[in-house]
Amino acid sequence: MKNITILGSTGSIGVSTLDIVSSHPDRFRIIALTAGKNLELFAAQIRKFTPRIAAVASPEDIPRLTELCHGIDVTITGGVEGLTAAATADEADMVVAAIVGAAGLVPTAAAIRAGKDIALANKEILVTAGHLFMDLVARFGVRLFPVDSEHSAVFQSMEGHRSEDIHQIILTASGGPFLNTPADRLSTVTVADALNHPNWAMGKKISIDSATMMNKGLEVIEAHWLFNTPVEKIQVNIHPQSIIHSMVEYIDGSVMAQLGSPDMKAPIAYALAYPERITTGVKPLDLTTMSGLTFHNPDFTKFPCLQLAYRAMAAGESMPAVMNAANEIAVAEFLVGGCSFTNIAEIIERTMDAHVSHDLRSIDEVLAADRWGRETARQISREMVH
Ligand code: NAD
Ligand code: MG
Repeated sequence: MKNITILGSTGSIGVSTLDIVSSHPDRFRIIALTAGKNLELFAAQIRKFTPRIAAVASPEDIPRLTELCHGIDVTITGGVEGLTAAATADEADMVVAAIVGAAGLVPTAAAIRAGKDIALANKEILVTAGHLFMDLVARFGVRLFPVDSEHSAVFQSMEGHRSEDIHQIILTASGGPFLNTPADRLSTVTVADALNHPNWAMGKKISIDSATMMNKGLEVIEAHWLFNTPVEKIQVNIHPQSIIHSMVEYIDGSVMAQLGSPDMKAPIAYALAYPERITTGVKPLDLTTMSGLTFHNPDFTKFPCLQLAYRAMAAGESMPAVMNAANEIAVAEFLVGGCSFTNIAEIIERTMDAHVSHDLRSIDEVLAADRWGRETARQISREMVH
């Protein structure tokens, strides 16, 4: 029996993780769950999976959640302390980090310090604080399993191989909903257009990140830290069918790839059950029905966010955290109609232009850079709209 805690159980990854847990009750047991909003769904999950601890992001939501969980034997808590208590709950063997954004930093760091293995979906953690997290993982001797489909594919394509034999990592990208939209139309696309991802059903923030291609930029940075590989050895290939989830090319010219239907349950299950494979209900792949798998280079001019991520990595230190913070603000603005789609990249670029990169020696310093990035991006976006 593996004891699991999920940070962000009401999100797209959280719900898929619980689906896998519920179809393998002999293997997995839920110890703690956390959520941001959506208290009704959270209460239903608590009723079904009976965690010992349930934590909500805002302490103000504790009374309402307590009311919704009337009659259930669970400790309800909240705020950063509550999330940390859930993340470090004694019995858990593995913590699934599925909060979106830099909000996942503190509870996930606490989980590592408490000796928990991590199944990592929350890529913003490695983008903002990759060096600190990889140090923590080594220091506390825990294992870090990628959940992001590309990184799971790379991880699987590296098994049984020596990392010194890697020539390059090739991350595939669907290209998102605007792959074939003319660049001059992007300034007028709607929120609904941007959320309409061709291959994956995901949370709103990552859906917009996929539309701007910032998601792939974040994933390049994530791959750099996870696989200890220089950014120059990480290529991005547009592969609109999302069947090959990523590849590793070795020095002998061999390329290892992982394929499958685009469904996050497969990489989640691999992280949960590693090194075993378990059933997931993912639709089997029938390559004979595919009209053709295609690949081409990304368009950095049409999708400046991808370029900004490479620029942030080249600057290093606090720049990726500031870029990530500006992206979180710009995406949130776009989602409420506060700026246009093309403003997103402009807000991020201007925030980065205003930032002088500096060393980050602790999670607190990362959080300070994150706050600076958010405030600056908010101000830039206000100026831009008025
Ligand atoms: P989501 O928005 O659907 O869910 C996010 C979860 O975090 C929810 O439970 C939400 O309540 C919680 N949350 C949000 N803000 C919070 C805060 N401030 N404090 C505490 N909890 C908070 O997001 P998602 O699509 O499930 O993505 C989660 C993470 O996984 C992201 O980092 C994303 O990039 C990554 N990821 C997602 C997918 C996918 O298919 N959805 C694929 C790969 C990677
Ligand atoms: Mg991905």
